[in-house]
Amino acid sequence: MNSKILKVAELSCNSSSRFRKIYDLGGQVLATNSAPTIFHLANQVNSETEDLTTHKFSIVNTSTGTYNDTKLTNDYISIIPLTLNLQNKAKATGLIGVHAISHIASDPTPAFLKSNGINSVPVSVAYGFTASGYGFVGDMGYGYVHEFVKSSMAGKVVRFRGGYGSVWEKISESVEMKVVCNARVVMVRRDGDGVCVEVEVGEKEGVEFEFDKVIVSGSFALGRGKVYRSPLETKEEFVNEAMDLSDLEKELFSKVETIDYYTTVLKIDGLDHIPVGFYYFEEFMDDPNTIGNPVAMQRFYSDTNIFLFWSYGNSVDIVGETVIQLAVDAVTRMGGKVKKVILQRRFKYFPHVNSQEMKDGFYEKLENQLQGQKNTYYVGGLMAFELTERNASYAFDLVLKHFGSDNAEPSFPYVKVQNS
Ligand SMILES: Cc1cc2nc3c(=O)[nH]c(=O)nc-3n(C[C@H](O)[C@H](O)[C@H](O)COP(=O)(O)OP(=O)(O)OC[C@H]3O[C@@H](n4cnc5c(N)ncnc54)[C@H](O)[C@@H]3O)c2cc1C
Repeated sequence: MNSKILKVAELSCNSSSRFRKIYDLGGQVLATNSAPTIFHLANQVNSETEDLTTHKFSIVNTSTGTYNDTKLTNDYISIIPLTLNLQNKAKATGLIGVHAISHIASDPTPAFLKSNGINSVPVSVAYGFTASGYGFVGDMGYGYVHEFVKSSMAGKVVRFRGGYGSVWEKISESVEMKVVCNARVVMVRRDGDGVCVEVEVGEKEGVEFEFDKVIVSGSFALGRGKVYRSPLETKEEFVNEAMDLSDLEKELFSKVETIDYYTTVLKIDGLDHIPVGFYYFEEFMDDPNTIGNPVAMQRFYSDTNIFLFWSYGNSVDIVGETVIQLAVDAVTRMGGKVKKVILQRRFKYFPHVNSQEMKDGFYEKLENQLQGQKNTYYVGGLMAFELTERNASYAFDLVLKHFGSDNAEPSFPYVKVQNS
């Protein structure tokens, strides 16, 4: 997984190492009782968490700079019975990832909730979903909203001390296999016998690794594909320069949209009254015409004036610089002054399909026809939903399903090796 971590040394005005802080730019928050796989992994490498229960979850108004606490708990309680019911139904299917819920909850969110006796999406759920980069709830099949809710509702909210990246670093050091870091995969070639992966490792080009099977993660396979709420209509045939795709891969990946999502880090004076926590910008939370403006902001530490902002772009005329300017404008309206733009990261985020594709059996084909074809398996947000726990548990489930066996005997003849 991507560490998405920023180690900021120059943050303190005293530029002392005493003030060094670590900020997660991507995956950060976990609900303790909703993330058994991640905590299982983290426990193996003794990673510790820190409590975020004192962090505020508030709605901020940029014209006044004031904030009000969200009714997080009440809103989630109202949706628990439906969530538990869907969770049981999904479990009974024996299917993995989003596939399990795609049969049951493919309708667009407002229609699905109405048919289940709920008039509208509870505000904290809708704001949490949109602020987390999953688009506007009205655009999404309920299956995705369900995955978000079930992973957010149980247990106290925590993050890893030392950032998420520290967990992945410890895990990669602890496994008995070679982990190649700082490498870029430039080509994946597949034939009947196996898979050849061509990689640039640092300055070294053309390094090749041979495998029997490959498991592709993240959005690598999706090439330049469709972007959520982009004004551009993609009519060309779907291609991925780094992989020679089969017809089935092209057919399925051409239906997938990703979200143009940004983390922008700003150093700000004049917002000292804002406590540590997460703030949702109500005015940009449900109108697609406001895309580009920040949907959420986080004060990470009380003793620095560094704030993180999350925003959507549209990959065409609302991209990096515009996104920064709109975040700066929001800060100015709130009475703050941006001293420095520290950095910005852009994510090809939350691969998903529309409600109709979900209904028409997209996930059925993905799991039953695509997985394993051409010695290739896929893990990541498309199959699992874009959250660390969902991705980690899906990866375990996929390996168990396709590579595990109930048979205690190995599938090859046992050969005794005599040491000389
Ligand atoms: C702003 C933001 C906030 C988030 N907040 C949370 C949260 O609070 N809680 C939570 O649980 N989840 C959160 N997430 C989601 C979580 O981070 C992702 O679901 C998770 O990281 C996905 O894991 P992955 O391994 O599938 O993909 P990734 O983490 O995207 O990993 C894919 C990796 O592949 C690498 N890669 C891509 N192309 C190549 C190539 N050609 N060669 C070599 N490497 C390549 C990428 O650099 C990346 O490191 C957040 C994400 C973002 C962006």
